[in-house]
Amino acid sequence: MNLDLSRLTAGRIRDAVASREVSAMELVEASYARIGALEERVHAFNQLTREIALRAAERVDSMVAEGAGLPPLAGVPVAFKDNMNVVGTNTTCSARILADHASVYDCTAVGRMLAAGALPIGKCNMDEFAFGSSTENSAFGPTHNPWDLDRVPGGSSGGSAAAVSAGMVTIALGSDTGGSIRQPGALTGTVAMKPTYGRVSRYGLVAFASSLDQIGPFTKTVEECAQALNAICGWDPMDATSVRRPEEDFTASLREGARGLRVGVVRDMLSAEGLAPDVRSQVLAAADTFAELGAEVGEVDLPHAKYGLDAYYIIGPAEASSNLARFDGIRYGYRVSDPNDVVDLYMRSRAEGFGAESIRRIMIGTYALSAGYYEAYYGQAQKVRTLIIEDFARAFERFDVLLTPTSPTVAFRIGEKADDPLQMYLSDVYTIPANLAGIPGVSIPCGLSEGLPVGLQILGPHFSESTVLRAAAAFEEARPFDVVPPLVGELAA
Ligand code: GLN
Repeated sequence: MNLDLSRLTAGRIRDAVASREVSAMELVEASYARIGALEERVHAFNQLTREIALRAAERVDSMVAEGAGLPPLAGVPVAFKDNMNVVGTNTTCSARILADHASVYDCTAVGRMLAAGALPIGKCNMDEFAFGSSTENSAFGPTHNPWDLDRVPGGSSGGSAAAVSAGMVTIALGSDTGGSIRQPGALTGTVAMKPTYGRVSRYGLVAFASSLDQIGPFTKTVEECAQALNAICGWDPMDATSVRRPEEDFTASLREGARGLRVGVVRDMLSAEGLAPDVRSQVLAAADTFAELGAEVGEVDLPHAKYGLDAYYIIGPAEASSNLARFDGIRYGYRVSDPNDVVDLYMRSRAEGFGAESIRRIMIGTYALSAGYYEAYYGQAQKVRTLIIEDFARAFERFDVLLTPTSPTVAFRIGEKADDPLQMYLSDVYTIPANLAGIPGVSIPCGLSEGLPVGLQILGPHFSESTVLRAAAAFEEARPFDVVPPLVGELAA
């Protein structure tokens, strides 16, 4: 069997393991062989977890030997963003202040992937504490986009996106607070989903903005995305925001097609400043594809969505400044060795332990929450959030799903926006509204522009993942994206 992971789906892997065509042990080796060939140039990982992967593979292989029924992701190589706790690893959030922070328990989503038989290959690079859209804000250096090593993979889950795009692993988990799964998904040509707020437990995920954070998968195909969701979704008593709902099989409606589906193209997002003409035309072409598939395609406006970015950059930093207060040099992580007194210890440990973007967010958030400014900033931002929620509610009276670009541009060059935070923040104009409203969204590749992938975002109302994925699967079938990054193509040649 050819073990080129960029050509193997999770389903194919599980079947091959079940029929003894390949062992889980061999799949671990295949994953590390690919990493060995490309990682030096890509830098998708902060840490490889060979020991843990081999133990997981041993368990799967002994199930096969015993003739036991295999769990749904048996033998599938996976990776986790480095803000998810995994026992036996450090959970660093790509931050100096947590560089030595050893996990003492498994994140629930991680535990669920392991219970499903997946093989944990490593922990992925990210923007420090998930602040960023390029994975350049990592204290351990940037990740490079497998499609063009001089370009960013997007962020903040750029390592997870690059690992799947380069065929190093089959599924990777990321977290999405303002777009950090969908935007890197778009920039690396992967399928990337942020589920409804509350669908996936965040227990064991280092918190960024607790009213926005959500865990989700990167995969190559829509079916694998649904399979990954099946594994990670579900109520968890350890996360008060996780929702108790009947179990759903997200693969069930994937083949129902787009006929009769009411698809709304978000018109005002397509006239927004900064949108690359190629991205715009590819999203419009995607809408045409839906029409050809028998969907009822129309147009809709989300008049307040354009204020989403502004509201997000109050709410996000406000919650982050409070969540990050615990990293103080006393209880976790980095501590200066020669403090003059306790205040000096706090101040210098934080000043030296946090990178520039983290410090910027903490300062913005602390300011926005301070007495006298709270109503003017945080209060106002929450009102804008309500207006955006109402915009979506109105749109979903007329449409089952909405189409937008995922990112206004294809992958930009490393360094291009690094010194201009506002330009960087603008990468997320199309993804942020879904976080503010708590609704699910997927990014799927819809074409290439100058050899780089373009992402189409499909949004649906709360808990409509099955419909969103059904639309994505119909599109994927009609317009398959079967190209691999040139780097990966060279390996196969
Ligand atoms: N890029 C956005 C930010 O910098 C979103 C990050 C995220 O979703 N974690 O905050």
